[in-house]
Amino acid sequence: MATKKVKQQARNVLKDVFGYDDFRPPQEEVICSILDGKDAFVLMPTGGGKSLCYQIPSIMREGTGIVISPLISLMKDQVDALTRCGVAAAYYNSSLKAAEAKDVMERFENDKLDLLYVAPERLLTKTFLNRLKKIKVALFAVDEAHCVSQWGHDFRPEYVRLGELREQMPEVPMIALTATADVHTRDDIVKRLSMKRAKRYVSSFDRPNIRYLIAEKRQPLTQVLQFLEDWKDCSGIIYCLSRKRVEEMAVNLQRHGIRASAYHAGMPGRTREKVQDDFLRDRVKVIVATIAFGMGVDKPNVRFVIHHDLPKSMESYYQETGRAGRDGLESEAMLLYGSGDVNLVRRLIENVENPEQRRVEVHKLNSMISLAESLTCRRRVLLGYFNEYMGENCNNCDVCLDPPEQYDGTAPALIVAKAVQALNGDHASGYIVDFLRGSKSKRILDKKHDELPEHGTGTDINADEWTSIVRQLVHQGYYVQDISRRAAVMPTDKSRALLAGELKVTLSKYQPGLKRKLKRFTVPKDNNLFKKLVELRDGLAEAEDVAPHALLSDVTLTEMSQLGKIDGVTAPFARISGMGTHKIDAYGDAFMGLIQSHKIKASSKKKLSDDKPVLLAKGPAATDAQTYSWNLYKSGKSVDSISAEQGMSQKTILNHFIALVRAANYVEVRDIIGEPFDVAMQELSDADPYASLSEIKQDLSVDLSNEEFRLILAWREGIGVS
Ligand code: ADP
Ligand code: ZN
Repeated sequence: MATKKVKQQARNVLKDVFGYDDFRPPQEEVICSILDGKDAFVLMPTGGGKSLCYQIPSIMREGTGIVISPLISLMKDQVDALTRCGVAAAYYNSSLKAAEAKDVMERFENDKLDLLYVAPERLLTKTFLNRLKKIKVALFAVDEAHCVSQWGHDFRPEYVRLGELREQMPEVPMIALTATADVHTRDDIVKRLSMKRAKRYVSSFDRPNIRYLIAEKRQPLTQVLQFLEDWKDCSGIIYCLSRKRVEEMAVNLQRHGIRASAYHAGMPGRTREKVQDDFLRDRVKVIVATIAFGMGVDKPNVRFVIHHDLPKSMESYYQETGRAGRDGLESEAMLLYGSGDVNLVRRLIENVENPEQRRVEVHKLNSMISLAESLTCRRRVLLGYFNEYMGENCNNCDVCLDPPEQYDGTAPALIVAKAVQALNGDHASGYIVDFLRGSKSKRILDKKHDELPEHGTGTDINADEWTSIVRQLVHQGYYVQDISRRAAVMPTDKSRALLAGELKVTLSKYQPGLKRKLKRFTVPKDNNLFKKLVELRDGLAEAEDVAPHALLSDVTLTEMSQLGKIDGVTAPFARISGMGTHKIDAYGDAFMGLIQSHKIKASSKKKLSDDKPVLLAKGPAATDAQTYSWNLYKSGKSVDSISAEQGMSQKTILNHFIALVRAANYVEVRDIIGEPFDVAMQELSDADPYASLSEIKQDLSVDLSNEEFRLILAWREGIGVS
């Protein structure tokens, strides 16, 4: 058992090196068990924090931790990030030049490394294994461990031999980590790596910071653009089913001024690498991609994932949406769901020759559809599919945030039931809807279905709504759809019970369009400061030739932007997540300087608006009569009553105020004008600079007298807006 002292040491490393205050479950247990020399199998969702599970023991244990990873492209990022935390780390793979490789091996053999990342095919060469025996190995970490198993979805033959490590060095603890493995795959991994004593750590697969949204696909481009409005300047991925759609969408986004790039398997390797790199370095914000994109991309600050088309399975949906929000900050996943896409995927599946495989794919697609059509919490459906049960609604999906209205749908359900019966359960949903709506299309006339009494029994409900009703009834188990018969809607016992008058049906009101109420960010951040911090970080990263998030994460910058009063450098930064000792030394001054200068500017601006603005004098000094009018106003009298009291017109009183403003006196112009003031100020600043004043006045959306208009102009001039 790891002693209290060891636990404390692990915490110290967490704080000093990585800058974090607390472990996430089950990091601490995993770390302690490795420190005890035991094996561990870790199943944690993407972004859960798997890396620390082997990084901390590698730092603490004697010798070097060997990390086996299939993704060469990620090794550099990981090593860059570790180096910036002051950890001695390196990688050894085919991307290194001979001299670099030699240098890495020298450091390794002289026990200068805490961590070494190795590609499996390199590790299992005779020379490398011989080297290993000569030095002290702290642990073996097998990342993406599902690649070991043929049951997993990304089997890699070069992983199979990793089991040999155990035979060669039985005393070195081994840790296997993955984000995707069903029960079969888990057993297989443990067996193939000969990890018999391994304790298994499985954490929840929920990604609470991802908000799930599923909307009817109507006008996808408009829907996407509308969605992007809320995520200006943020990184995101848009998945489309085909290369053609990918390219079209990318071009359309570019036309709307969005820094987007296409990515698909048909592009030359070099171009793809560049796109990926541009995305990692935040030069490109939005990637429009086929599913080919993502496996090798470990970008923590992807804020949204959009599925333009229906994913083939819940597994793909979970994995692809999971690329959002690895840093734990608020993120969104939106799926555009259209029945056309369902039919498209169905046709693809019909072409699968092996009947067993076809059955599996149909089942997977149906589960996906039931998520898209679910009228209960999406997260419950999603996690339920992976055998994880949530007791409560999540309050962070579209269904929870904007629950559909329910109504007694027994009457329309009966209309459908009778129609399906009349049509012998032989027709798909589109045909049934046409039939209900009384269509005289050729296919209906040909079958003489217009002569049936049920024809046209649903003319008072529109086609979209009928489609939604039929879908819901399928979803609720009144019908099954037979794929082998072109998705014919066939009644079940439940439907027969309905016809017998034994059941009541509850339906959800059909809501066209994208419905989405946004719960905004929980922690308010200073957006202006955040932007400046991002700029500074990106500049430094560019200079050091590393990915921006390898330098400092968005979480760190968000927390910095929330800093209140700042007294010294180390104290407040030490409280910020991700600022370990090494980073405080390297970057503390630069960021603190920026924060301080921002604070000074912001507070002087605030003073200006808190206190009376300093007015710039233009006209002659105010007369006594003018000051007198103002004093009356200040005593609480309205312009009306001042004019009555003094026997002057309102115009004259307003002219007094104009003169006062021009003489640099403070006059509450907003108060005098009332509500139209803000509108006018805004519209004036947007006005065509070449228009005459009378034209501008005419164009205003608020009605102002000439004097009121001139008063506002004087005010604007007075505070230096021209
Ligand atoms: P995974 O490999 O499981 O996908 P990572 O190890 O890349 O996840 O971690 C995801 C993010 O969470 C990283 O930015 C990491 O620094 C951060 N993180 C990990 N553990 C903690 C922790 N205990 N406290 C705060 N942040 C953490
Ligand atoms: Zn929910």
